Amino acid sequence: MKDLKKEYEQVSLEIEDIRVQTEHLKESEIIKKYFNLLSQSEELSTKKEKLYEQIKKEEYSSCNHIWIPTYINNFAATGITYHTCVKCGLDENVSREPIVGLEKKIMWNYIFLNPYRTGIYIQEVCDINLARDIYMKIIMEYPDLDDKNIADYLDIAIRDIQNHQSEFTKELEDRFLKNIGPKLIKKKDKS
Ligand SMILES: [Zn+2]
Repeated sequence: MKDLKKEYEQVSLEIEDIRVQTEHLKESEIIKKYFNLLSQSEELSTKKEKLYEQIKKEEYSSCNHIWIPTYINNFAATGITYHTCVKCGLDENVSREPIVGLEKKIMWNYIFLNPYRTGIYIQEVCDINLARDIYMKIIMEYPDLDDKNIADYLDIAIRDIQNHQSEFTKELEDRFLKNIGPKLIKKKDKS
């Protein structure tokens, strides 16, 4: 017990000594500059986050969304479908997952505070990465198509690719997407 008390007193003395030394250092110009820079950097980081949030909000609100059903919760009594926009990335799934990181926080806030359900809804359930790949190929191949036509094209392409998924290689998928466009446009001209 005696030894422990002695050790305790020794540690307390060492702490006090360090406190005095750090107080002294705070007066040094270089340390003052360090703390000043640290605080500037924190302020700028907050400003950067706010700007990023504004940019994303603007992206979401100006997007004519094309919604892909990306998840169906069959356990819910009525079955809830969650959608993701293939254009701007706004994702309803954010509401059923833990909110980690700035990106998800901004999305969550936007979804809960804004009437965001506008735009075009695709029927076919699809993995968002596959849908995004197809979307990118469509807009590269047919840059003049409007959103309605892009959505029709996407719907057909997703259905066909999913029906034949086991037979599709990347090369076949590319060829298929090149061929389906003119077919779709022809079909639309007839109707
Ligand atoms: Zn969007």
